[in-house]
Amino acid sequence: MSLVKGKGNKSTEGKVLSLFRAKRICGWRRHLPLPGRPDFSFEKERVAIFLDGCFWHGCKRCYRSPKSNTSFWSKKLRENVTRDQRLRRQLRSRGWKVVRIWEHSLRNIDSVETKILLALEH
Ligand SMILES: [Zn+2]
Repeated sequence: MSLVKGKGNKSTEGKVLSLFRAKRICGWRRHLPLPGRPDFSFEKERVAIFLDGCFWHGCKRCYRSPKSNTSFWSKKLRENVTRDQRLRRQLRSRGWKVVRIWEHSLRNIDSVETKILLALEH
């Protein structure tokens, strides 16, 4: 069981970083002390970007319930999802736009680019 995969690991961040570089997207900061510690934040545009591992953050598209310790994992997942929602609400109430990038969506980097650029433009 590959449960350890995808908690904001380097390859996920690396893909986004090379996208920033390729598209000359600048002005981002890493892990600012904001609710939830966004992976990337654009202070001027007030855009916070979270790279979320599909397993840990309960992606509905990818999530497969583990075969053992089912109740432990479903409780853990519920807690993670609830915490994500609470932190993102806090950010929005401070005037931040929250962009969530699922691990699986990095397979289609063009869609990630569109999502980020749209958020930065508005
Ligand atoms: Zn997913």
